[in-house]
Amino acid sequence: MARIVMKFGGTSMAGTERIRRVANIVRKQQAGGDEVAVVVSAMAGETDRLVNFCREANALYDPAEYDVVVASGEQVTSGLLALTLQSLGAKARSWLGWQLPIKTIEAHAKARVDTIDAPDLIASLERGEIAVIPGFQGISGDGRVTTLGRGGSDTSAVAIAAALDADRCDIYTDVDGVYTTDPRIVAKARKLKAVTYEEMLELASVGAKVLQTRSVGLAMKEGVRVQVLSSFIDDNATPADDLPGTLIVSDEEMERIYQEGDMERQHVTGIAHDKNEAKIILTRVPDEPGSVAHIFEPLAKASINVDMIIQNVGRDKGETDVTFTVPQTDLARAQALLEDKRDEIGFNRIITDSKIAKISVVGVGMKSHAGVASTMFKSLADRGINIQAITTSEIKVSVMIDEDETELAVRVLHTAYGLDAADEAA
Ligand code: ADP
Ligand code: ASP
Ligand code: MG
Repeated sequence: MARIVMKFGGTSMAGTERIRRVANIVRKQQAGGDEVAVVVSAMAGETDRLVNFCREANALYDPAEYDVVVASGEQVTSGLLALTLQSLGAKARSWLGWQLPIKTIEAHAKARVDTIDAPDLIASLERGEIAVIPGFQGISGDGRVTTLGRGGSDTSAVAIAAALDADRCDIYTDVDGVYTTDPRIVAKARKLKAVTYEEMLELASVGAKVLQTRSVGLAMKEGVRVQVLSSFIDDNATPADDLPGTLIVSDEEMERIYQEGDMERQHVTGIAHDKNEAKIILTRVPDEPGSVAHIFEPLAKASINVDMIIQNVGRDKGETDVTFTVPQTDLARAQALLEDKRDEIGFNRIITDSKIAKISVVGVGMKSHAGVASTMFKSLADRGINIQAITTSEIKVSVMIDEDETELAVRVLHTAYGLDAADEAA
């Protein structure tokens, strides 16, 4: 007998028909003798709809009330799944974030899980009940509803799995695993049998939204075994243990998988893109010690994340241009803050551009293999794609390009690194 946390995303929960499918998958898992806790998302599109209501009600909405509104989508689906399971003869009940409770710290709308009280939940599982837990929501120290940031149900699932000391956390979504790139963009994307925590963390943080970045960080910290798989399987499929999803594993487990000859080590594991950043250029900034600090201090204080940064070579007059990226949602705020500090920083003009994309190639193989970056630059140049900025980490190279060239760039690189599905058969 194993203890399994199963998480179902928005597409899997979209409507009572699909919830019935989910209920059947859950029942089957339990029938195999496992203890099962289920974490659910709101129906697809529901959270967007709720966010829009908040914006319409008050453009400068209070994040605490925003959380009250947006957390409701998951309350609906958790109740509906419990009802459906009961209709199939299972013992099931919902556990809302405040009932467990899932205590969170930090800001509303982007809270972090602090502690989860598991004893009542464990007792319920041991009585053979299926626990249905709404993802995305928790409760703050002062007793108010919080949410974990968009895509946060993945993090709820991993946190519950850690609290329950579960054998595995299965993330059911609308694709059957983690692919070498978004399979909706590149038809030749290939499903990966396994990815390391480190690689998945990088892939998620640079735009592969199949898992929320925080959920991967938490799984790595807590040693939770995560599997990504599809809920759109035929009704006769076997339980998850035999489903060919993607496992997110430690480096050691990955070594074992390679040694068993199940996989060939590639230098690049995957490619991701992100269209949600915007570029800011400050022209004619004084080229002297401290001027860059003057730019980034106010942004840091306002919790605006700066990603790529380039400073041009200084001109004759002791001036330089500084280019960097911020999340598009923070662009207006960043611009206003910088305008405020115009005299202190001493720049001439602010130029902004939201029509940019970041393309990243990720792979632990890069640690020991040179030439990954140069392949990237050459492949993009051959297709006339201009690189506006570059950043690297130990296992990642990212470039900024024109947003219109995103799909082309991802496809070109996917082929250049030998990741196309057809290559496997060759
Ligand atoms: P859910 O609602 O189940 O949480 P999401 O929409 O958040 O699902 O994540 C699943 C989606 O992630 C897929 O439909 C796919 O388009 C996208 N995606 C992006 N990159 C990848 C990748 N490398 N592998 C698989 N899916 C990816
Ligand atoms: N419903 C939330 C969202 O759409 C959380 C989730 O689905 O993971 O962001
Ligand atoms: Mg998601």
